[in-house]
Amino acid sequence: MVAETDPQAVALGYKADTTKVDAKKYANHKPEQKCANCALFQGKAGDAAGGCSLFPGKQVAANGWCSAYAKKA
Ligand code: SF4
Repeated sequence: MVAETDPQAVALGYKADTTKVDAKKYANHKPEQKCANCALFQGKAGDAAGGCSLFPGKQVAANGWCSAYAKKA
């Protein structure tokens, strides 16, 4: 799993819980945005965690979020 203290995670403002995202720093973040519905998430629907192309070899939480979030089409 990606740790929130991982340098890449810090750079992207990644939180394992989308509700804990810094709202001041990331004003466009919305709580319904999470890794599970991000285009870069590689897990299946219902998975608790899955790969993300921005964190090679690691898993992000389905309920996580980072500033590179892009809504899944
Ligand atoms: S790019 Fe998407 S799937 Fe990857 S950590 Fe950020 S929000 Fe989650």
